Amino acid sequence: MTMLRKDTHFEILNLAQPRLLKVISLDEFIEQGLAVCAGDVAFSDLLLWLPDAALQHDPNLLSLPVGGFLTPERLTAQIQGTHLHLHSPKEADVVQPGDVVAMTPDSSLVRVLYRRGSDSNLLFMTDRCNSLCLMCSQPPKDIDDHWHIEENLRLIDLMDAGEENLGISGGEPTLYRDGLLEILAKCKAVLPRKSIHVLSNGRLFKDPAWIEALTTLNHPQLSWGIPLYADNATDHDHVVQASGAFSETLQGLYNLARAKQIIEIRVVLSLQTTPRLPELAHYLFRNLPFVRHVALMGIESTGLARKHHEALWIDPLDYQEPLSQAVYFLFNRGMPVSIYNLPLCLVPAHLSHFARQSISDWKNLFIDACQQCAAIEHCSGFFKSHTDRWQSRGIQPMSTKAFSAYARSAC
Ligand code: SF4
Repeated sequence: MTMLRKDTHFEILNLAQPRLLKVISLDEFIEQGLAVCAGDVAFSDLLLWLPDAALQHDPNLLSLPVGGFLTPERLTAQIQGTHLHLHSPKEADVVQPGDVVAMTPDSSLVRVLYRRGSDSNLLFMTDRCNSLCLMCSQPPKDIDDHWHIEENLRLIDLMDAGEENLGISGGEPTLYRDGLLEILAKCKAVLPRKSIHVLSNGRLFKDPAWIEALTTLNHPQLSWGIPLYADNATDHDHVVQASGAFSETLQGLYNLARAKQIIEIRVVLSLQTTPRLPELAHYLFRNLPFVRHVALMGIESTGLARKHHEALWIDPLDYQEPLSQAVYFLFNRGMPVSIYNLPLCLVPAHLSHFARQSISDWKNLFIDACQQCAAIEHCSGFFKSHTDRWQSRGIQPMSTKAFSAYARSAC
């Protein structure tokens, strides 16, 4: 099983400028027209899905007043005219009707910015960050990339109006405070059925001006994922490589609570964070009782994590005890808690209720050993960046019998 990529190459004809387009099937075009998009769009924002057979059957379809055409196979006949036309994808599954795609002249790469029906869609805000976490999967870049704000505002218009979750991430999204607030307001207006989850280090929320801004925004389905890596400043500031960060994040968390925001605490499990995990669980319960959910997350072995392998790597088999203590401490006190990103064969049966299939579809991978495993449908598997030096000695495919016994002892 492999993940579905978020980009692929096409043969692209007549592309003069960068474009963001909504792929739409002929049936949808006839039945719904522009209503297939959640926001304010024009026919020129649509990319009509036109299989080669349909095109051969009725070449006049090319006179429809849309922004372009996408043929998901090789063309069997030459195309006339000056309209935008994508054809012959390198990987046929990557782009489908309903998706929103981006492309630029002089490149054959087509990026999927929104995938219909997926719960892993993301508005990417910026590559910039004010922390430099040891395990950052996407190392920050010090660049001016305000253009993401405009692209995201446009992307929101082109999405389906459906109920899937939508993430907002970076970098640190709060660095572009006004842009973020504008995007959240637009999500509320155009995509009211989607719940929004923003990942932020929480430091800038120490500015109390956010309280009024978020209270005024009053988004009904907005939550924040904020990391806290320790019950003390020294350890947390070391993990995020920023002195003063612990204090700022805590002030930020209290301000978010004042603005009645829904808060999730995220802890990446590593050699730095697991030894004091039970103490961190106590700290969360005593000091941040308003937190709605605690996510204890296996590490993603990419970006800066690769550089800091030695400082970070601990075999999950070797932190089962503190993990178990932390999970049950929180669970027994009514604080919802989950384990993310850990393969099921590394989660003891008594913790398996808490394990979630949490890895986004486009970067989720199962290794060769998993192919014979009866747990594969229930397992979070691995990140696509997985390599041998991040592999636990406990990876062990389960037979049907072993998996039934595992599931039974979980009850
Ligand atoms: S061997 Fe089975 S339980 Fe272990 S990671 Fe693979 S699918 Fe999951």
